[in-house]
Amino acid sequence: MVEKISQCDIGKLFDMAFADLLWEAQRVHRLHFDANQLQVSTLASIKTGACSEDCKYCSQSAHYDTFVENEKLLKPDFIIQEAKAAKSRGATRFCMGAAWRRLHDRDLPQMVEAIFGVKSLGLEACMTLGELSASQALALKAAGLDYYNHNIDTSEQYYKKIVSTHTFDDRLKTLQHVRQAGLKVCCGGIMGMGESREDRVSFLYTLASLSPQPESVPINRLIPIEGTPLESVAPIDDIEFVRTIAVARILMPQTMIRLSAGRADMSDAMQALCFLAGANSIFYGDKLLTAENPQIDKDYDLMKKLGIKKMGGVQTEGASLSGTSNRIDCLTVCND
Ligand code: SF4
Repeated sequence: MVEKISQCDIGKLFDMAFADLLWEAQRVHRLHFDANQLQVSTLASIKTGACSEDCKYCSQSAHYDTFVENEKLLKPDFIIQEAKAAKSRGATRFCMGAAWRRLHDRDLPQMVEAIFGVKSLGLEACMTLGELSASQALALKAAGLDYYNHNIDTSEQYYKKIVSTHTFDDRLKTLQHVRQAGLKVCCGGIMGMGESREDRVSFLYTLASLSPQPESVPINRLIPIEGTPLESVAPIDDIEFVRTIAVARILMPQTMIRLSAGRADMSDAMQALCFLAGANSIFYGDKLLTAENPQIDKDYDLMKKLGIKKMGGVQTEGASLSGTSNRIDCLTVCND
C-alpha cells in the first residue's frame, strides 16, 4: 500500500505501456464503481461573457474578441426552469456557471434562491461562480448547494502562462473555503493548452494531494476558440489525453472523473477509450456554457453501443471521502 505519491511516481504511471496503464486504471475503477455506468450532469451558463479575467482559453473573457454574446445574470425563476428541463432530459445534477472573477455579496440572495429551487426538484446542485470568501461558501452550503466547481486548470508553473489576472494560490484559497464549508469539491483542468507532460504530472499531483481528494475531477480537452490566444495551439495527442485520464483514475480511485469539454470533436472510439481509462461522468446537453457538446441523442446512442447505463437518482459519491487522506491503495509502481 502506498499512501504518499511523488511526482516521479506519477511520471512512471504516464510512462507505462498503454495496455498496462489501461488495465491498471480499469482495475482501480472497478474496485470503486460499476464500470458500465456514467453519471450525467447538465451545465448551464447563468451569466455569460464580459469577464474581467484573461484566461487565455476562454471565450467569455472581455480581453478577447470572440463569438460570445454577453448576457446578464439570469433571474432565479429562469434558472429553475432550465433545471426542470435538464431533469426532464435525465440529468441528476444541475451545474450553474457564471463568468466573472468572484461572487459579489449583492448577488448572493439570487444564488441562494436558485439553489433552493434546483434542490426542490430533487436534483443535485453545483455552482461555479469564481472566487468565494469563506462566508459566501458557508451561505451556499446552508442553502443546500452540494458541489462547488473551481478548476486549477493546469500545473502551478504553467498557470502563469495561461492567466495573469489571478493566481494559482487564489484558486487554492477558494478551494479551501469550499472544503471548510463542507461543500463537495469539483476541481479539474484543461489538457492541450500547450503544457508539457511534466505540467500534466504536476497538475494531477496537486489534485491528488488535496485532502480529501476532490469528489469530482473534470478533465477537459481544449476547444480552441477563435479570437483567444490559444486559438492555434497544437492539439494534445489522443493517446496522451487518454493516459491523463487513466493516471487521474489511478491517483483518485473514488473520484468521479468527468470527461468534459472537447467531446464534440471526439470520435465514439476515442470516448470509449476514455471510459475504459476510468472516466465515469459526462456533461450532456447541446451546450457546455458557450461551447458545443454532443447532442443528447448521440450520447444515448453511444451509451447504448457501449452497454453503458446512466447512474440513476441523486448521487452520493464522495460522501465517504471525507476524512480520507491522499491514500492510494492500489498503486503498483515504486515509491522512491
Ligand atoms: S474567470 Fe472563468 S469566465 Fe472568466 S475568463 Fe477565466 S475561465 Fe473565463
